[in-house]
Amino acid sequence: MPQIINGKEISAQIKEELKEKVAAMKKEGISVCLAVIQVGDDPASSVYVGNKKKACAYIGIASLSYELPEETTQEELLALIDKLNKQEDVDGILVQLPVPEHIDEDAVIRAIAPEKDVDGFHPQSMGALCIGQRGFVSCTPAGIIQLLKRSGIEIAGKECVVIGRSNIVGKPMALLLLRENGTVTVAHSRTKDLKEVTKRADILVAAVGKPRMITREYIKEGAVVIDVGIHRNENNKLCGDVDYDDVAPVCSAITPVPGGVGPMTIAMLMNNCVESAALKR
Ligand code: NAD
Repeated sequence: MPQIINGKEISAQIKEELKEKVAAMKKEGISVCLAVIQVGDDPASSVYVGNKKKACAYIGIASLSYELPEETTQEELLALIDKLNKQEDVDGILVQLPVPEHIDEDAVIRAIAPEKDVDGFHPQSMGALCIGQRGFVSCTPAGIIQLLKRSGIEIAGKECVVIGRSNIVGKPMALLLLRENGTVTVAHSRTKDLKEVTKRADILVAAVGKPRMITREYIKEGAVVIDVGIHRNENNKLCGDVDYDDVAPVCSAITPVPGGVGPMTIAMLMNNCVESAALKR
């Protein structure tokens, strides 16, 4: 049986560490505050925002909540971000994506001051990651590095294959694995002979967005398999990009869905907020 990489447990551990850190910072008079902005009332976004605020409360991070109506203009949203950029007591600004269609998502991402960009989506944050400088890193891929490290999985020198090249998962994931001295290949929708590529992987990260696409034919025996996908299957149960039951018997370690990568994203967001406050002082 493979090692089941328990994201629930590891994220809880990280949150406990952060709670202690925040308590210690409070004793020195340093508080941590995250501003969360949601435009419109998309139910999935509301759940994500609610979970983020809950995590803040648990760790001792103050959260400022802005629930703006769907018809909010881009100018109004940018004005709020500008105000929060200048607000001394705000350490992180998060705009829950997607924003309504009449708002330019890139303009919103660019408007957030890089030193408060706790989602790590700003071009400056991405650029810093690319050239190995300090900056916030996108939370899901940062969480995957923590999963690997805290599960005792060595990255240096390993063949790492990332399927997917999105700005929030695939690309930062590849850069982080490279930073950890992995030998990294990025596969995507135009990759030829995908199975040939993925079968080289000692560590395979699937961020494809296709339910249970990755079966054992894509896996080298003994590989570590990280599943980023989140979907609902035909029975309305959560599943990933990886066909877990098919792949688990042939790999050495695997993340389940749910309970693998998912819980790490919020933990790393909290980590970025605490880091922002600590750096500022
Ligand atoms: P995306 O749709 O932006 O990117 C998917 C990528 O997969 C693309 O780069 C595309 O080139 C590649 N791709 C698509 N079809 C392919 C194919 N047949 N073969 C090879 N490559 C193919 O998605 P994303 O935002 O990167 O998210 C990926 C998945 O991860 C989604 O299921 C999403 O819901 C999930 N996700 C989970 C978390 C989390 O916290 N666990 C966070 C973000 C995204």
